[in-house]
Amino acid sequence: MDSAPNHVANFESTTLGRFPEMTERLDCAVIGAGAVGLAIARELARRGREVVVLEAAEAIGSETSSRNSEVIHAGLYYPPGSLKGRLCVRGKTLLYAYLDARGVEVRRCGKLLVATEPDEVPRLSEVIGKAAANGCTELEIIDADRAREMEPDLHCLKAIWSPTTGIFDSHGYMLALRGDLEAAGGMIAFVSPVTGGMATADGPLLRTGGADATEVLCRTVVNAAGLGAWAIAASLDGMPPDRVPPRYLCKGNYFQLTGRPPFERLIYPLPGSASLGCHYTRDLGGQGRFGPDAEWVDGISYTVDPARADSFYDSIRRYWPDLPDGALTPAYCGIRPKIQAPHEPAHDFMIQGPADHGVAGLVNLYGIESPGLTASPAIAEYAADLVAGEATA
Ligand SMILES: Cc1cc2nc3c(=O)[nH]c(=O)nc-3n(C[C@H](O)[C@H](O)[C@H](O)COP(=O)(O)OP(=O)(O)OC[C@H]3O[C@@H](n4cnc5c(N)ncnc54)[C@H](O)[C@@H]3O)c2cc1C
Repeated sequence: MDSAPNHVANFESTTLGRFPEMTERLDCAVIGAGAVGLAIARELARRGREVVVLEAAEAIGSETSSRNSEVIHAGLYYPPGSLKGRLCVRGKTLLYAYLDARGVEVRRCGKLLVATEPDEVPRLSEVIGKAAANGCTELEIIDADRAREMEPDLHCLKAIWSPTTGIFDSHGYMLALRGDLEAAGGMIAFVSPVTGGMATADGPLLRTGGADATEVLCRTVVNAAGLGAWAIAASLDGMPPDRVPPRYLCKGNYFQLTGRPPFERLIYPLPGSASLGCHYTRDLGGQGRFGPDAEWVDGISYTVDPARADSFYDSIRRYWPDLPDGALTPAYCGIRPKIQAPHEPAHDFMIQGPADHGVAGLVNLYGIESPGLTASPAIAEYAADLVAGEATA
């Protein structure tokens, strides 16, 4: 199947060439209109910068930001002090406040992280310790009886109860960000793929393709192109090649549940090194769903192989033994933009400023996988500080 979950709306396209006053010099270009690029653009515009978002597609949020779990993560798993840990915990607070203020749908359903085998039980305490070091202190370890009181169909030996985990309408979020950006004087140039450029003393010069191909000299460029960030960085003359990390792709497939959703809360197994595990969620429409798994791939294809259902049944039945045969159908998938090679431990987000690569006015974001949606408002603050020389990567 090739359907994205978070209905991508059909927006009127605006190409860069229709704004001739902007074709030669820009104060600030943000590349990519996903959740992260839009959050950064909004933040820069709020700080008084003139911002144009350069987007290859015809709409906002048509890549990874529409192909994920839409979970607001609490900040359980990340090494203390890491960007993922810090920006997830701060991002969660900022995101809940923003969604409430803007009337975007959100459900504070909470999550149970379950140990289903005896050797998994000690890992729960490790998770609690890591989370506390990141400032996520509201977690509690509960026994199997308490977990079953909360979710009668759940099998586990013990669990962590995370009350601040939730789900939200990520497309509504991106629409709100776009609205704020435009209200602050910024704009999005659709169908304006960045195809290359060069470093100059005055800032990066970008080439854009599309029907109105042009060159733009920018004081500041924030490369938030998700899966495309590597190619853009590598295509800039003057960008040191050894500062562009390797890119690996790890697909996360989802299967939809036919029939009555078994749980009210999110149910997660313990995480692996490439993913947070094949979890259960009930989306805002009330539909039960499982995923994502971790499938290392060489290219970008959004097809879900139905044969992967077999491994889903095995992993789900560890915490939901009553999952009926034939209840899962392929749904959709997303692709994690990773710096981490297969079999390596998880890597942190990589956000590089001029002090890291030597190119004036350029910030590159790599490896913005989960919890990138949750962290997006905090990534925006961080990137804007980096642009202003107030943060170090
Ligand atoms: C399977 C999966 C599940 C996830 N679940 C969660 C979750 O539950 N909670 C959470 O917090 N995070 C989750 N994430 C992570 C989250 O989805 C991402 O971190 C976030 O969406 C990244 O947003 P982005 O704006 O960086 O990238 P994207 O959304 O991919 O946006 C990048 C944009 O750049 C554009 N672009 C690319 N190349 C160019 C170019 N050359 N010129 C111009 N534009 C270009 C693309 O068209 C796209 O619009 C998940 C990720 C995956 C893959």
